[in-house]
Amino acid sequence: MNHETATSTAGEIADRVLVPAARQNDKEGRFSTEAIDALGRAGLLGLTLPAESGGSGLGPSTFAAVTARLAEADASVAMVYLMHVCAAATIAAARPGAAVAPTLKEIAAGRHLSTLAFSEAGSRSHFWAPVSRARRNGAGVRLSAKKSWVTSAGHAQSYVVSSLAPEGTGPTNSTLYLVPAGTRGLAVAGPWDGLGLRANASAPMTLDDCEVPSGLQLTDDGMGFQAMLGVVLPLFNLGTAAVALGLCRAAVTETAAHLKSARFEHLGQSLGESLPTLRAQLATMQIDTDGLSARVDDLVDHLERPRDTTTLRVLESKAAAGDVAISVTSAAMRACGGAAFSKHLNVERLFRDAHAGAVMAPTGDVLREFISRAILGMPLF
Ligand SMILES: Cc1cc2nc3c(=O)[nH]c(=O)nc-3n(C[C@H](O)[C@H](O)[C@H](O)COP(=O)(O)OP(=O)(O)OC[C@H]3O[C@@H](n4cnc5c(N)ncnc54)[C@H](O)[C@@H]3O)c2cc1C
Repeated sequence: MNHETATSTAGEIADRVLVPAARQNDKEGRFSTEAIDALGRAGLLGLTLPAESGGSGLGPSTFAAVTARLAEADASVAMVYLMHVCAAATIAAARPGAAVAPTLKEIAAGRHLSTLAFSEAGSRSHFWAPVSRARRNGAGVRLSAKKSWVTSAGHAQSYVVSSLAPEGTGPTNSTLYLVPAGTRGLAVAGPWDGLGLRANASAPMTLDDCEVPSGLQLTDDGMGFQAMLGVVLPLFNLGTAAVALGLCRAAVTETAAHLKSARFEHLGQSLGESLPTLRAQLATMQIDTDGLSARVDDLVDHLERPRDTTTLRVLESKAAAGDVAISVTSAAMRACGGAAFSKHLNVERLFRDAHAGAVMAPTGDVLREFISRAILGMPLF
């Protein structure tokens, strides 16, 4: 698989599987197993895994393009996909000796969905500071934790779980573990009924004295924080920016279609022909969407050729993308008026989905705090 085949395959799956079901899945809060099966069969679950693990070894550019294309059709599926890619990268970066080869093989074969279980009820959006603590159990550990939101909860085949290291001394001395679905003590702890991204099963989960063997410890003791920042954060922020871009593109497409098709019969004109104010709103939406697209390309370039400004760009991209998605989808709601408000169009789903980006950690507020601290030369944590 190369960049072109990956993006065209994503487009084909988006049109064939995601688009026809997105509206109903959103309404029912139904996780699309069909979408994940299709992505797996097409080889997209192993997109970024190295070739030696059976993956396609493709980089940030293809990941962003595939994610944006999926989000244009159904942002819930795109979010499931991005969480999986972040988890797969963490598993692939496991410390030497970790027993992750079978999991990587299953991911590459398209039979294994993974996800991140970082956020805890006790530390809320401060995912870098879990309050749970692993307990020694021979060479392995036992984990007990209240994970507040886990995308693909109950649907994933494994969970990348954070917990304070048994002897960790500070709030960020965490360790990452791979917890397979079916592990005794691991359970979905409630329903998922969100305002947006309703079809991605982001339910709470509990770990009740789960036994994790040493082979499934992904990082050295206390090195989970480094993996969160070094492996997960760049991909996660790029992926959420790509989801925002897909939402913006869909909003422009839906708004343009509505302005062309809805008519003032008494004037003999479409809305778009009749009202310069709606044309101006559509133009602003397009400008902002293309601006976000350029920002995503810029982040890809910074990840492919890391330099001094890369960390800042990683932080900025998610904060900016969340704001742009809210602004563009809000403009779409206004331009499409009653048709959007009364749910005759998909625009209101896009509007609701766009709001999740700003809530997901690191939130837009936290990112601004980090960015300003970095500019002022203050410590981030
Ligand atoms: C759809 C969805 C899917 C998710 N999936 C996952 C997942 O798969 N895995 C996972 O681990 N988590 C997941 N999360 C959880 C998410 O990452 C956050 O942990 C969660 O949304 C935080 O919610 P909160 O409002 O309780 O945070 P709070 O910490 O209570 O934040 C409340 C408000 O305070 C602000 N705030 C907090 N700290 C600061 C600060 N230092 N400076 C300035 N402002 C601050 C926040 O921006 C927010 O506006 C998901 C969330 C959503 C919405």
